[in-house]
Amino acid sequence: MKNRTLTKKFIRDTVRSIIDSNALYVPFAPPDVDKMNELLGTNYQGFVRKKNPVYPSDPRHLYWISDGASESFSWLNCITAITPEQRIKKAMRESVRPDTDEFKWGFDPQECVLCGASEHLQTDHVDPSFERIANEFMKLHKDIALVDGIGGVGEVFEDMNIEAEWIAFHAQRAVYQLLCRSCNASKGSRT
Ligand SMILES: [Zn+2]
Repeated sequence: MKNRTLTKKFIRDTVRSIIDSNALYVPFAPPDVDKMNELLGTNYQGFVRKKNPVYPSDPRHLYWISDGASESFSWLNCITAITPEQRIKKAMRESVRPDTDEFKWGFDPQECVLCGASEHLQTDHVDPSFERIANEFMKLHKDIALVDGIGGVGEVFEDMNIEAEWIAFHAQRAVYQLLCRSCNASKGSRT
């Protein structure tokens, strides 16, 4: 429970600083982005502020950017709970990390395909996005069971056969490119 309180406080403070910034597009800066993604099991790269159609002066109408897509963001959901779906997706992301890391570290040249930067490189899903692949798989397997990982660090698939199926499913669909963090984030803001 103590951990949960810290999580809520961290997310609330982070979201507060976004709201206070008044910017239209707010890319996250490391290490905050890494910590928030770890806590939520997400892949946020930043936030876009949009006009709330009902309350135009509402500063909290945020859309998050993840894997090149933008979706409406509920900061209340974020600070109250990590949803079961987010927990499953976090485990799914960890399962394919060896694949995305292999692409990242094996790709030559070690530079962003858009701007040529060689730092903060990330494996980006070109199309379909990670979210789309994960959602497709979750239609086939509803309520994927999780168990604590070794040493209680994070959660992993309970059924290794389903995990293997997911890794193969993802590998068949994922198309990668190497982007730097900032190009990855601005790619998201265009959608
Ligand atoms: Zn770049």
